[in-house]
Amino acid sequence: MKELAEAAGVSIPTARSRILKLKDTGVIKRLTVDVDLRSVTNCVTAFITLRTRLPDVKAAIERLKGLDEVSEAYVTTGQHDIVLKVHAPNMEALDQLVTKRLGVIEGVETASSSFVIETAKSFVGPVLRPGFGFKIRCDGCGDDIQNGEGFVRTIDGQARFFCDESCLTNFARKS
Ligand SMILES: [Zn+2]
Repeated sequence: MKELAEAAGVSIPTARSRILKLKDTGVIKRLTVDVDLRSVTNCVTAFITLRTRLPDVKAAIERLKGLDEVSEAYVTTGQHDIVLKVHAPNMEALDQLVTKRLGVIEGVETASSSFVIETAKSFVGPVLRPGFGFKIRCDGCGDDIQNGEGFVRTIDGQARFFCDESCLTNFARKS
């Protein structure tokens, strides 16, 4: 928190309250514990790339993201359609995962894996830098609310975002 406050040029209480606000508004989805995988015994990390038949990408990713071994799942452009980051207790378990569980998913044509030998940098999500804006959708009109504009209202226990009063009125009328 001290580092964060210094980086932003604000006091620690200000930094803390801004973080809480970002959490309340849903911009920060979760705060995580970053485990040093070297301290976890019996853990193999691998990236698995999959090619799927085109109409089946959506269905395949839905199945894949439900697997405990999969910690990250992306639909991508390029040579592969899906990229997964997986953790397994050992090579054999990883092999089983690829051949017996991923390879048999409807629409998956090929699956290949690359083991991670060394993690040089690992960070959850993009490193926030100046120039990255936050995009929040208005619950009234559905448009993106411009940075620094709009307001939040808690409605039925849920944070809702609006461009202006007319969007709030719109939302209230719909619900
Ligand atoms: Zn709006």
